Amino acid sequence: MKTAIATVSISGDLREKLTAIAAAGFDGIEIFENDFLAFDGSPRDVAHMVRDHGLEISLFQPFRDFEGMPEPQRGRTFERAERKFDLMEELGTDLVLVCSNTSPLALGGIDRAADDFRELGERAAKRGLRVGFEALAWGRHINDHRDAWEVVRRADHPHIGLIVDSFHTLARKIDPNTIRSIPGDKIFFVQLADAPLIDMELLYWSRHFRNMPGEGDLDVKGFMRAVAATGYDGIVSLEIFNDQFRGGSPRLISIDGHRSLVNLMDQVKREEPGIKIDTPVLPDPVPIRGFEFVEFSANESEAEQLAAILRTLGFQRVGTHIAKDVALWRQGGINIVLNTDRDGFAHSAYIVHGTGVCDIGLAVEDARATVERARLLGAAPFAQPVGPGELEIPAIRGVNGSILHFIDQKSSLKDVWEIEYTAETPDPTIQDGGLAAIDHIAQTMNHEEILTWVLFYTSIFATHKLPMVDVVDPAGLIRSQVIENDSGSFRLTLNGTENNRTFAGHFISDRLGSAVQHLAFASTDIFASAQALKANGFRVLAISPNYYDDLDARFGLDEAFLDDLRHCNILYDRDDKGEYFQFYSESYGEGFFFEIVERRGGYRGYGAPNAQFRISAQKRHMRPQTYS
Ligand code: MG
Ligand code: MG
Repeated sequence: MKTAIATVSISGDLREKLTAIAAAGFDGIEIFENDFLAFDGSPRDVAHMVRDHGLEISLFQPFRDFEGMPEPQRGRTFERAERKFDLMEELGTDLVLVCSNTSPLALGGIDRAADDFRELGERAAKRGLRVGFEALAWGRHINDHRDAWEVVRRADHPHIGLIVDSFHTLARKIDPNTIRSIPGDKIFFVQLADAPLIDMELLYWSRHFRNMPGEGDLDVKGFMRAVAATGYDGIVSLEIFNDQFRGGSPRLISIDGHRSLVNLMDQVKREEPGIKIDTPVLPDPVPIRGFEFVEFSANESEAEQLAAILRTLGFQRVGTHIAKDVALWRQGGINIVLNTDRDGFAHSAYIVHGTGVCDIGLAVEDARATVERARLLGAAPFAQPVGPGELEIPAIRGVNGSILHFIDQKSSLKDVWEIEYTAETPDPTIQDGGLAAIDHIAQTMNHEEILTWVLFYTSIFATHKLPMVDVVDPAGLIRSQVIENDSGSFRLTLNGTENNRTFAGHFISDRLGSAVQHLAFASTDIFASAQALKANGFRVLAISPNYYDDLDARFGLDEAFLDDLRHCNILYDRDDKGEYFQFYSESYGEGFFFEIVERRGGYRGYGAPNAQFRISAQKRHMRPQTYS
């Protein structure tokens, strides 16, 4: 199965677009006339340039307002069609998309439209060209693929076929399974787009908010399963109109696009096992068992400050690396690696971004299969020189320069901490904080980057996204997107910010790009943890007394319980499944912080109603901190 993408989907001039599209692994492009009107060269030059990039022009589009016109307009539309056919011959493409008529002049009538297409088919056949008919969701008379198919069926011409577009079918809530009764050889081309569910006018929604399959809320998979069931084995193409993508990096958007198609076809193959689809066989989506480690890069003095905070959290330094300036801190099932080495990735991350999380280790079933699936989905494997006595830990580059390592139990990787670290004696003055695991990791990024992260994590791993929520920062909105696995052992919150004045925005502008802004540790008894941490000298983020008055008003809590919360600066939330408790450290450096949480019952959220109180408290406390 070949893949294509419409050139309108990405930014740049035509040459930049072609370079990015070819590099991402597409076979072809859909070309819009506007794309080369601004290009300084003839259609033949465009054709050469496309071929020089190893691509083909799979489709020329669109040809508008064609079928069902009265005379004299009818005669003129055929003249217009002949001129487009001339252009197609110069471009070297044989397929044109005709979208359903939106003109108020159009007369309607399935047979009238079929007659027009039959005549167009005759004209196309003389030149060896083909015509595909697509129902626009806002077409005047034809706005449903079933009616477009009926026109094509009655036109009964070998050079006339159907073009289906997931957006037009799914936006109108038409059951995609109706495609299953269309013969595959009469489908000439398939266009795919997803979109977030927003209640708005169809044309506006389509022109500005489409996104890659898997990034939105439409059932693009169900649509593609139905298409595949027809026996269709032609090109699958992305036609994405999105203002954000047109302003984004052509390289990254192209990579996202190709990843979305490979992932979609992998899902279709798994769910329609009787159907032969000639795309690469991918290892299964990777179940994540949990976070194996989080690694910080830092210079010596900042590492000392971080170590001081870890001590107050109840962590023990349990190991020192056999060859590098790297320390292992541990509590419960949490491993924190502090890297102050002058070589390797951690150091280059430190040079670029300063102190912070540079690497995340995930515990998976099979580390090598994980890298293989990621590679087939367009992620770059990562390796750095391995010293004597060290293990080669499978890794990939994540989004925007981050690194992910994978540890499994089926190889020597399971003993990595014993093999690469010499044990340290515990410090008896540190009280254990009762922290058992990483509950979630929160990354902050520019708003546009969220979709890229969503696609990255949900395609490679067995994870899903939750609906986006808006978090109020006094200086602007933050969009928060959760990605998690079913068991809750992997939870990531992605916070997208549009300006630098929000607490999150300030953090990433100082860090030059997306970064982990907080780590949340799970406690089994949050009040006991609060006690132990206090004894260790932990500096808790002080919450305004107003918060507790508001809390009482919202939930009507028992007075003694409310006092306990207030006393420990613990924030509280509740849903129909359970309760959530959370407290925070003061922020460190440019705004990094730790969170301690306890979940009771089946609470699955992240305390979103509390975020604005937390952010206000952090802004009040934002000043240089020193720990000793
Ligand atoms: Mg379309
Ligand atoms: Mg959190």
